[in-house]
Amino acid sequence: MQIDTPLMDPGRAASAPGTVWFVGAGPGDPELITVKGRALIERAGAILFAGSLVNVAATRWAPRDCVIADSKDMTLEQMSAWLIEQAGQHETVVRLQTGDPGLYGALIELVQPLDAAGIAIQVVPGVSSAMASAAAAVESLTLPEVTQSVIFTRVEGRTPMPEGESLEALAAHHCTLCIFLSITLLSRVTAALTAAGWSPDAPIVVVHKASWPGEEKVIRGTLATIQNLCREAKIVSQSMIIASPTLGARQWTTLAKSKLYDASFTHRFRRASVPVSNLIQETP
Ligand code: SAH
Repeated sequence: MQIDTPLMDPGRAASAPGTVWFVGAGPGDPELITVKGRALIERAGAILFAGSLVNVAATRWAPRDCVIADSKDMTLEQMSAWLIEQAGQHETVVRLQTGDPGLYGALIELVQPLDAAGIAIQVVPGVSSAMASAAAAVESLTLPEVTQSVIFTRVEGRTPMPEGESLEALAAHHCTLCIFLSITLLSRVTAALTAAGWSPDAPIVVVHKASWPGEEKVIRGTLATIQNLCREAKIVSQSMIIASPTLGARQWTTLAKSKLYDASFTHRFRRASVPVSNLIQETP
């Protein structure tokens, strides 16, 4: 498969270290990796994958002689040592991360030792579980006149939350919240939303293993019911909690339509087909 960016520097000496590619593996379905990520796996000399979260099926495109290791039981130091060693032997080394590498992925902690060792790195984005969860539930995270903002966050566990980022403070915006890493702390999530003034009827969706073939579960409830529903469904790991005033919009009978497709709305790519007075031009 041809990809646009050259995967090898033509001026690179045969003995020079290879590049370590941090590749977003996507949320679980191996088909949700990017074309570029898959092409890198196909030519990888070594792959380090996060076995606790990344579907091992994503490594199925690797060459037969590719060195594949699971980082599940490694410390950060062991992981960087492994990547540095493999980069000394292979032109293409892949670190496969769940979802997108830029979200809760220890990306910078792994990049810094490679920078210090003079090893080139590149990052290939991936489909985050937040997006896969919205897709699984057929929900839109933004809706005109409802909310136009999404916050990716978590509740405080062992990692402390920086000042001003408590869930209660963020929930006060009443926009969409995609809450990672918090399913075992669901009671804290519901307490924070309640304290921020969300109604007990506010819809909440929990998606377990979004996009994993045969394993995905979508639990729909409200602030008042979601904890019991998750307990009954035995959802205790790998889940996205989505709280949003947009949830359930598929069933709404009144919906403010997006200006982008409005017949009376002119924009850069289409002229209005319906003449309107006071036409306001705005970006979608
Ligand atoms: N970088 C990842 C997030 C890693 S943190 C991303 O972009 O998705 C791990 C957390 O992500 C989990 O605790 C869970 O909240 C969420 N997560 C990862 N995979 C998931 C999936 N398939 N379905 C639902 N949530 C998932």
